[in-house]
Amino acid sequence: MPLIDTHTHLNLGDYDDRKDVVERALAADIIRMVTPGVTLESCFSSFALAEDYPGVFFSAMGIHPQEAHTWTASTYAQLNELSQHPTVVAIGETGLDYYWDTSPQDIQHTVLRAHIRLAKERQLPLILHVRDKAGSTAAYDDLLRLLREEEAQGGVMHCFSGDLAFAEQSIELGFYLAFGGVLTFKNAKVLHEVAQTVDLQHVVLETDAPWLTPAPFRGKRNEPAYVRFVADKLAELRNLPVSEIARITTANAQRLFRF
Ligand SMILES: [Zn+2]
Repeated sequence: MPLIDTHTHLNLGDYDDRKDVVERALAADIIRMVTPGVTLESCFSSFALAEDYPGVFFSAMGIHPQEAHTWTASTYAQLNELSQHPTVVAIGETGLDYYWDTSPQDIQHTVLRAHIRLAKERQLPLILHVRDKAGSTAAYDDLLRLLREEEAQGGVMHCFSGDLAFAEQSIELGFYLAFGGVLTFKNAKVLHEVAQTVDLQHVVLETDAPWLTPAPFRGKRNEPAYVRFVADKLAELRNLPVSEIARITTANAQRLFRF
């Protein structure tokens, strides 16, 4: 039952036992994994994995919205050059984060617009992150507005966390919804509603490892093998066999990243 982890950060510093983690993923039939850059450094470390495991790991080039303040006059050209690497399948992760607010919002907007343009220039899908403070939808509203203004050409809403209206608008704009470990949390009622309602042709799976570990390992370090728990939960919510969820989401991920 092949699965694809469309968003994992095995290239970051939390994996001294990286080899074992990859072995467990392969043993669990996780056939492909995408490691997005969040800084220029992690763009480079994402290449190392893609070169060690050809055909298994793929890269995405981007500066995370929390790191938007590190953007300089030369960053666009650097990302553009890096994204010509043959293992690059997407631009990101980029987006808007009003939760941590580590970068001023106007800078986040400028940097997001630049990523959207780069994705269009390179003809690659975008990997988007969006997070807001509880009770506020400003980040979600701004994200949709900027995608429309820049005429973005699609990609994926990573770690999908919006409501049904946001899900529908995302799909309309050509974005897949990526469900991760949060889907397995009992209190994720809005997310469960979205997962039960949306057209599965627009859904992919991810872990966002090392974070957001699914039940039953919630609170521990996450790893790609655990994407199976997300598939199980989606199968339960849709009342479908997990093999069917695997078939659909794997085909979607292949289409999204043109593997
Ligand atoms: Zn991420």
